[in-house]
Amino acid sequence: MRPLAPQTSTLNQAELHPELIALLNAVAKVIAFFLFANICIHKMVNFEKTINSQQMDFFKPMNIADNQPDAKKTKGEVEKVKCLIIGSGPAGFTAAIYAARANLSPVMYEGLQPGGQLTTTTEVENFPGYPNGITGPEMMEDLKKQAIRFGTDVRWGLATAADLSGPKHLITIDEEKVIEAETVIIATGATAQYLGIPDEQKYAGSGVSACATCDGFFYRKKDVAVVGGGDTALEEAIYLAGLCKKVYMIVRRNVFRGSKVMQERAMKTPNIEILWKHQTQGLFGNGVVEGVDLIVNKGESNETTAKIKVDGFFLAIGHKPNSDIFKQYLETDEVGYIKTLGDTSKTKIPGVFACGDVMDPVYKQAITAAGSGCKAAIDAERYLSEI
Ligand code: NDP
Repeated sequence: MRPLAPQTSTLNQAELHPELIALLNAVAKVIAFFLFANICIHKMVNFEKTINSQQMDFFKPMNIADNQPDAKKTKGEVEKVKCLIIGSGPAGFTAAIYAARANLSPVMYEGLQPGGQLTTTTEVENFPGYPNGITGPEMMEDLKKQAIRFGTDVRWGLATAADLSGPKHLITIDEEKVIEAETVIIATGATAQYLGIPDEQKYAGSGVSACATCDGFFYRKKDVAVVGGGDTALEEAIYLAGLCKKVYMIVRRNVFRGSKVMQERAMKTPNIEILWKHQTQGLFGNGVVEGVDLIVNKGESNETTAKIKVDGFFLAIGHKPNSDIFKQYLETDEVGYIKTLGDTSKTKIPGVFACGDVMDPVYKQAITAAGSGCKAAIDAERYLSEI
């Protein structure tokens, strides 16, 4: 006897119910359509988000700390180095000289201002070894030559992000290249401070400057004002007095903060006039600076206002440490100076060291920066020999 054909097979059922098959086909098509539509909508929304965020980034003022989360994600090859030095002032170059001589093959990225703040200064008279003084730019050029002589790889580029969260220290350069460094020496220095009044931006490049040696030349035989009472302000005022007809010093207290020798020099300079207890309220001028609105004796019973006519307005009120991209990982004080452990250059992250003005709220001298750069290189070398 032949066995009976199975009666429960799907094919057979379908053959038996063509209406059911047609219905299932229709349902499947509807589901497929909805899935496809959903994927398309999702992709379009994401695309729009990307475009919007790119547009926002384009219009946002540049803030290198904004790139922080991208440090790991940056595309491209990762270069491994033993010792990465970020910054090229006296601290960075001294660290480079020592690290190169210790065979750490240091790679240095010079940053936005190659040579650091000393390249914007005039005579450096207090760096030991120069009995007749030396200009800031010359000294930095010499330091650079010395660092290169021992094999430092000095490169153009700005550290735009840092990821110090893991055992590998990742530093992004110019938002593109990633360096994986066994040791990082942060020597990023500090940047000139502004008063924060809107007119500084309004007249930026049209009479407002934070660097007398860079821009003083444009104000020859004109009248200018320098704000501040520290060594920078005194030095800039004396420098400008040699170029300009008259220099006003706008000092908010009735004393200078700068050194005695510089104070005496400024006070003896005939074309410097010191405006004690004056503060800047605003600037005026038709497209370019033509003068300063001042408040005199602010907060006192004899408070009053005054005006001076000047063509140039120079800020010399101190500096802000360039530590923004590291703040997430390292300890800083309220101003942003990186804190180091005891007398060393060590930060709280093993293998990461800080030196120079980015970690020195007190001395801030070229010679002290150089000394701390030396300490950072020695600390880095010892760290590498111990791991
Ligand atoms: P400082 O912090 O020493 O001085 C800043 C000056 O600006 C002070 O007079 C301060 O007034 C004034 N100031 C700060 N904020 C304002 C404000 N909002 N409005 C008005 N005035 C303000 O900074 P410097 O850049 O002068 O010097 C930094 C360090 O570098 C110092 O240690 C200095 O000795 C050193 N240096 C050394 C040089 C050299 O040796 N050749 C050259 C230049 C600097 P106040 O005093 O009231 O706080």
